[in-house]
Amino acid sequence: MATPERKESVMDKVISLAKRRGFIYQGSEVYGGLAGTWDYGPLGVALKNNIKGLWWKRFVLNREDMYGMDAAILMNQNVWKASGHVGGFADPLVEDLKTKKRYRADHLLEDIGVDVKGLRLADMDRLIKEKGVKSPDGNPLGDVRQFNMMFKTHCGAIEDDTSVSYLRPETAQGMFVNFKNILDSFHPRLPFGMAQIGKAFRNEIAPRDFTFRSREFEQMEIEYFVDPRDEKKVQETFDVLYEEQLNFLADLGLEKAKIHKVEVPDADRAFYSKRSVDTEFDFPFGQKELLGIAYRTDYDLNAHITASKVDLSYFDEETKTRFVPHCIEPTFGLDRLILATLSSAYTEDSLGGEVRAFLKFSPKVAPIKVAVFPLLKNKPPLVEKARGIYQTLRNELGGSVVFDDNGNVGKRYRRQDEIGTPYCVTVDFETVEKDNCVTVRDRDTGNQERVAVADLVRFLKEKVSL
Ligand code: ATP
Repeated sequence: MATPERKESVMDKVISLAKRRGFIYQGSEVYGGLAGTWDYGPLGVALKNNIKGLWWKRFVLNREDMYGMDAAILMNQNVWKASGHVGGFADPLVEDLKTKKRYRADHLLEDIGVDVKGLRLADMDRLIKEKGVKSPDGNPLGDVRQFNMMFKTHCGAIEDDTSVSYLRPETAQGMFVNFKNILDSFHPRLPFGMAQIGKAFRNEIAPRDFTFRSREFEQMEIEYFVDPRDEKKVQETFDVLYEEQLNFLADLGLEKAKIHKVEVPDADRAFYSKRSVDTEFDFPFGQKELLGIAYRTDYDLNAHITASKVDLSYFDEETKTRFVPHCIEPTFGLDRLILATLSSAYTEDSLGGEVRAFLKFSPKVAPIKVAVFPLLKNKPPLVEKARGIYQTLRNELGGSVVFDDNGNVGKRYRRQDEIGTPYCVTVDFETVEKDNCVTVRDRDTGNQERVAVADLVRFLKEKVSL
């Protein structure tokens, strides 16, 4: 009997394209992988760098009130004691009593349609028992308990309690502990922010949905410090920063209709947060958190003042008063942004009577902006001319240009469409013998137009918004 063919989901197609064309590979693949880790290949890292670059430009380079940072991943263990992570950075864990496999209790409940917002550990334990929830392998589950998600390690040659350190589970604390350094070096006036892009590590109980829930990932975070005495201004600043998050998503070419604002209810917010707004996105596997913004008040700075005994207050020259600023934190998960960009760019259509699958990237994020082809690879004048144009474009477009002379032009178009290259430039006989013009072909429409070689750089720069 023939096995029924399983319909390949969009997610499966994106994962397979990402691997085949060098965007994202399973981490440690030749050893069978390491769950929750992913390696970015040449096109993946180009996409990642483009997204980071746009973020840095919008939030740091284009502003006078933002200070860039790159703090160490390993920090003194007291940072994590003070921030509350050692005591409370935990997820609800439940174990399959037979296989000993571990699951997130809230995820198992969500899978059977329970709204888990605001549920405490004891509630989850009760619900799992009441509803007779079994593990995905059909076995009974144990009690729900807390599981701390920080990766613990030791710094130096001696493994004792004093040498304990953690791989940071968020980049934020690296900024709070540098707050005084920024005050002392730059003397900024409120409001001002600190911004950082870097790795974070969480020992997720059950990594899933491709890179969405990884154990090693990158965050782009801002700690924006404000004067708490003007409550109205603080709320306005929160709203402006939230709007800036949306503007950044537009930079990436993400569709507005797939982006959802979720005001986090009181019961679900961290106790120190006065207001939190999550931005959720329609991923192929459902609407899930892409990024967030939280009004963290003076919680973090105060926690470090108490624990370190160092004065992290701010002196306001105008009113001659000293106080601890409040903080608004817009946070972005870089890997989730990449996944959102990749999965929403994935498009299937038919062009010239052929079905094609391609990545409809915004030119701003496309890893390759332009591909240059000689019509035939065995005609030296065409190859020479195409090579010259390729070199010029590489210099002018920051290297994101490729040369391809393999197979017929139709196949080369397909290959470039599949990795989301917005424009292809072909050098043909007319170019060298007649008009010194090239054919520029548009990825989305397949339309072709002749452009003079002398005009090409300006024409393409305008098109790819460089
Ligand atoms: P979730 O509820 O999905 O676990 P979170 O609310 O714990 O996420 P935050 O602590 O607010 O996440 O982290 C900030 C951002 O970091 C998130 O908005 C998300 O984009 C990203 N992020 C968090 N955990 C992961 C992970 N395991 N893998 C990839 N990105 C992550």
